[in-house]
Amino acid sequence: MTNFAELGLDPLLLQALAEAGHETPTPIQAQAIPAALQGRDVLGIAQTGTGKTAAFALPILHRLKQGGGRPPRGGCRVLVLSPTRELASQIADSFKKYGKHLGFSTEVVFGGVGHVPQQKALARGVDVLVATPGRLLDHMGTRHARLDHVEVLVLDEADQMLDKGFLPPIRKIVAAVPQRQQTMFFSATMPTDIANLARDMLRDPVRVEVTPVATTAERVNQRAILLEPNAKRAMLAKLLRGEGVGRTLIFSRTKHGADKIVKALEQDGLSANAIHGNKGQSQRERALAEFKSGRAPILVATDIAARGIDVREVTHVIQHDLPEVPETYVHRIGRTARAGAEGEAVALVAPDELGLLRAVERLTRQSVPMEDQRADKSGRLDDRATPVRPQRGPRPGRGGDQQPSRKPQQSQGRHQPPAKGQQAKPQGQQRRPDAPRGGEAPRRRPGDDSGRVFMARGR
Ligand code: AMP
Repeated sequence: MTNFAELGLDPLLLQALAEAGHETPTPIQAQAIPAALQGRDVLGIAQTGTGKTAAFALPILHRLKQGGGRPPRGGCRVLVLSPTRELASQIADSFKKYGKHLGFSTEVVFGGVGHVPQQKALARGVDVLVATPGRLLDHMGTRHARLDHVEVLVLDEADQMLDKGFLPPIRKIVAAVPQRQQTMFFSATMPTDIANLARDMLRDPVRVEVTPVATTAERVNQRAILLEPNAKRAMLAKLLRGEGVGRTLIFSRTKHGADKIVKALEQDGLSANAIHGNKGQSQRERALAEFKSGRAPILVATDIAARGIDVREVTHVIQHDLPEVPETYVHRIGRTARAGAEGEAVALVAPDELGLLRAVERLTRQSVPMEDQRADKSGRLDDRATPVRPQRGPRPGRGGDQQPSRKPQQSQGRHQPPAKGQQAKPQGQQRRPDAPRGGEAPRRRPGDDSGRVFMARGR
């Protein structure tokens, strides 16, 4: 598929796409749009950054225009459910961007802000409503929202809904949408609970899926720095002052940690904002706006808050702490190198986090080049924590010396992805034939048989 016109989209949508600078459909769009235009249900396995929002927004807008009709008072024609406020705002912005020549109304409904403006908007009736589940249920409870006229229902980032405990509210909402003609369901992974929900919600869906992460992050230069925990602060400041560092997203495992990082950076003369669940809505919006505009180009985020942040030209992603769940590493580095750009991802790794790095390497089947920047390199790194040796095969300039080493490798060069059939494996860690892909990654949810995470490609 080379262009959007071949998909048969309305000319006014094509015009908006051209104005947005989107020339070629992404893989998920090329797969999902034709089926959705025919009114089929869609099961999309894709994460943010793949172009999935347009994959559902474009056919929805097309069909709304074809069908005519008006939004019902107190309700909506299209309902999109999102796990976070940030993602909800972005989805609504996408509908407005692609539908700018069509004149449909779009509203968002989420918690943390007043009820009344949302009630008023609902009372008028809206074409496209993007909502987080909790607040939507509030409005349903007070009879300010009725869903009996919803024609199309979209559930976005379903696996995040599960993580946030939203499955019971979602089942209630779905039960209140009996007349829908079409349902689209998107998730980055397919743990059992999500697969069950999809089965209950979808009728004979078309399944569309984008590339597994094994081929990930082709445009992201990844590296890790091994250092003592108390050296992270100075290293962060040094990295941020480095050449070519533009908008940078720093990940912290905890909210408290994010605030501490901001404070330390400020003491080091670098101004940064934090974004996490304890921040009020207006603080979050301000931080995001300043990040987007480049006024405050350093943003420190927790994973939940960063989910769905779509800011072009994030040049660097720095992981101050490695995540407990290796898939999260992939989501994090996917914040850079968006929509065709190149990006750098740096992980600061304390010796006791080496096991987490290894879990990431097992999942992605790539080794992450690591520099040992510890002041005292004599400290023994225990067997479990010994980092993965970069992939087999002679490396240029190294004379092919591939003797096993118990010391961390200090590779400085760009990482080359393993050749097909020659994937890097942690030393002494052959994958069991019956082991799921991603092997013994810690805290994989029981029943998550997908073992995969997904990245955008080909843009
Ligand atoms: P999403 O996965 O929906 O969050 O989209 C990620 C980013 O890709 C957004 O900034 C979109 O504007 C952008 N995008 C979506 N579709 C295309 C396309 N076909 N070509 C270029 N950029 C796109």
